[in-house]
Amino acid sequence: MQQENALSFILNELGEDSEQYFRAVAPPIVQTSNFSFKTVADLRNAFADEYSTWLYSRGLNPTVKILSEKLAALDGAEDCLVFNSGVAAIFAAVLANVQSGDHIVSVAGVYTWARKMFEEILPRFGVTHTYINGTAIENWESAIQPNSRLFYLESPNSWTYELQDIRAVAALAKQHHIITVIDNSYCTPIYQQPIAMGIDISLQSATKYISGHSDVVAGVLSSNRAMVQRIFNSEYMNIGSGIQPFNAWLLIRGLRTLPMRLAHITQSTRRIIDYLKTESMVAAVIFPFEPDFPQYALAKQQMKGACGLCTMVLKPAAIEAIELFCNSLQHIKMAVSWGGYESLIIPRCAGMSKNEYQSTNPEHRMLRLYIGLEEPGYLIADLQQAFLKAVAPAH
Ligand SMILES: *Cc1c(COP(=O)(O)O)cnc(C)c1O
Repeated sequence: MQQENALSFILNELGEDSEQYFRAVAPPIVQTSNFSFKTVADLRNAFADEYSTWLYSRGLNPTVKILSEKLAALDGAEDCLVFNSGVAAIFAAVLANVQSGDHIVSVAGVYTWARKMFEEILPRFGVTHTYINGTAIENWESAIQPNSRLFYLESPNSWTYELQDIRAVAALAKQHHIITVIDNSYCTPIYQQPIAMGIDISLQSATKYISGHSDVVAGVLSSNRAMVQRIFNSEYMNIGSGIQPFNAWLLIRGLRTLPMRLAHITQSTRRIIDYLKTESMVAAVIFPFEPDFPQYALAKQQMKGACGLCTMVLKPAAIEAIELFCNSLQHIKMAVSWGGYESLIIPRCAGMSKNEYQSTNPEHRMLRLYIGLEEPGYLIADLQQAFLKAVAPAH
């Protein structure tokens, strides 16, 4: 109850002061690039500390500030920075904590653009990386080099949902004075609290559940105040990819319903997975809260919930059958991203040319499903009719 009250306070009140804006219930979009000063002394003070003064909206903006107070509190962090994309948050978090000659240990299979940063951008500045299977703590330990400065986690990831033992990895990092960064997009702070488990920087793509309406691209990183202030004064201001006031306002709006959306999606996902396991074309469903998930116990221990994303592996099938199944869906849309109101599907085979596809490779037969806010029966009916067409194609 205490917990729920605190959550309601964060989502409904924290950071807001309607006395400042006509007692309006919904806060204003302060759509301004700059702020004026009455005296040179005031302006001088603002120049000296842009982290705590309205000066220019690439730095602080009042609408963004309301949002960032809420997001930091949700993460159980002292402060946060909100970006114009999740990837900008990833880039700033990593760039702020490495320099030439440093080494990063990262889980394999990270989000595409984190991978591109490790493989294509950072090597140009003398920063190297090692990918590991992050499911075993020994792999982290044995990958540490004298110049290792940063551990990069993503738990669960967004296709096969491997987890890291977050507390153990954070504790190991602390022993070696290594900074830890986690991509928490799958869970959101509602379902997983990495900072309470010892992680230094928790980030997420706010494009997904925080927005919840498939209309904003945004990201957030949370940490202690010293870290956030340091990143603000350097990477945040210099990359210049802070969120714009209108998008921040849309995220505040999204936050109002976040717990309810997650609760609904959690229930629906359960029903869809139970249904999928009865389908003759489906060999397996991968989902962290399924008892046959290899890290089920760890998932239950460190995550309060799992929802929305699951991956089905079809039984060996021709690529044409998979394509026919996807093309036959009438309501579930084929699109990237997730976390919005609408259910989505992506087949792995869309990421390869047709002649690369091997029906013997289970990875190639994966389809990632995102369960949105629709009624589960509506989604099941759509999946059923598409499976029927794929099993017995009409001639
Ligand atoms: C979408 C996503 C990102 C990137 O976020 P953007 O808002 O698209 O920049 C990062 N990590 C994960 C796991 C994601 O799903």
